Amino acid sequence: MDNYHSLVNKQRLFFLTGITKDVAFRLEALQKLRNAILSHEKELMEALKADLNKSEFEAYSTEIGMELKEIRFTLSNLRSWVKPKKIKTPISHLGSTSSIYAEPYGVALIISPWNYPFQLAIAPLVGAIAAGNCAILKPSELTPKTSEVLGKLIIKIFPEEYISVVQGGVETSQALLDEKFDYIFFTGSVPIGKIIMKSASKNLTPVTLELGGKSPCIVHEDANIKLAAKRIAWGKFMNAGQTCVAPDYLYLHQNIRNKFINHFREAIKDLYGERPLNNPNYTRIVSKIHFNRLQSFLNNGEIIIGGAANEEGLTIEPTVLTNITWDDPVMQDEIFGPILPVLEYSHLSDVSEGIHNHPNPLALYLFSENDNVQQEVLNSISFGGGCINDTVYHMVSPYLPFGGVGSSGIGSYHGKGSFDTFSHQKSVLKQTTLFDIPVRYPNVKDGLKKIKVFLK
Ligand code: NAD
Repeated sequence: MDNYHSLVNKQRLFFLTGITKDVAFRLEALQKLRNAILSHEKELMEALKADLNKSEFEAYSTEIGMELKEIRFTLSNLRSWVKPKKIKTPISHLGSTSSIYAEPYGVALIISPWNYPFQLAIAPLVGAIAAGNCAILKPSELTPKTSEVLGKLIIKIFPEEYISVVQGGVETSQALLDEKFDYIFFTGSVPIGKIIMKSASKNLTPVTLELGGKSPCIVHEDANIKLAAKRIAWGKFMNAGQTCVAPDYLYLHQNIRNKFINHFREAIKDLYGERPLNNPNYTRIVSKIHFNRLQSFLNNGEIIIGGAANEEGLTIEPTVLTNITWDDPVMQDEIFGPILPVLEYSHLSDVSEGIHNHPNPLALYLFSENDNVQQEVLNSISFGGGCINDTVYHMVSPYLPFGGVGSSGIGSYHGKGSFDTFSHQKSVLKQTTLFDIPVRYPNVKDGLKKIKVFLK
């Protein structure tokens, strides 16, 4: 097994030179990264096609273009983010000023998954660079072509003592985790997230865990049904449902069940044609193991839309299952595929109860035209983030920090959130030497009485 001790050491020494903290250095690195992405666009698209059969449209909109935009946003804001923040000082500290300095942690480890293999590796890297860290990136072994292009791209523009890509699977990840990092940013499944946190605890390394879970999508009886159907079909079947924030299952109000299903069928047809399995741009499932797991759900409840699968091509039609309960196998874990089970409800309280009995979702979507219904759901259910009357879209705003809560994750990122995540907030008090207020000293006359004026 490889030993990454010398690589981590090299990065630590490079970090200690202080060069990565220089703002001009960070901006130049981000610009280099942006240029490299632009010049590798075609290769990246080919790799994403080979790994997951992603169409050029999906590859650009959800991976390449998204990261170009993220870098551009960071480039135009970084100078203001790095400025020390002057903050208030209480009267008891007369003569001093207070500031918070955003300070890079040092050497960061970024471990990423396969479902958006480019976006989910680059997005945290942008934050690590912006905050002034060195980083080692371990992309997914399940999307080898994209990981290879990623490695090539990084090696061309950065020395390994600054940013480095390490290829490999579980053993590589574990060998990396044996080293001491100053920050670990992990995106992946809940069980592996627990392993990462345990490993990080050896050195008390701070972590961000971007995990998954079952994200509900509620369609209330007063929803704009046609639009809801279109937006849910888009968010669910993009990347063949292999999206951490895809609606995992539907809570559908029983009064609008049939109407919704009809619109949903139409929406799927509009997006992927009469026969999605024959659509050359329909994303495939990442591996045979994942395909088999998904296929086993097709006998849960009743298939009302789709249900066909192509074993050779590893594709599964956009599928909707009805007559589902929380006891069905498809409701036990995150589905991560193009299968949408439907639970019906008549009272919103049943929805909150059902969700409360399970781990906090990473995302939640509610379709309703009624403010009170919207407030009730927002107030009563805890979830990482989400949308009202849309799906997935919240995660592409650089102004909305993105992350989970409870078992769907720890911490958040995107836009300034990424800079904050990879920065320690160093609080500093600068005291005057022109005078010295005596009340804090134990030898002052009537000390207790005087200190009580300030501390009460
Ligand atoms: P995964 O947890 O299996 O793997 C993620 C990474 O961890 C890979 O790089 C893998 O090599 C590494 N890894 C696997 N086993 C390991 C071990 N025992 N020790 C150390 N490292 C190990 O996840 P995945 O299958 O690649 O991705 C799918 C999961 O990721 C889903 O649960 C999904 O919800 C989640 N996800 C979350 C987000 C988010 O932003 N919150 C985004 C995408 C995916």
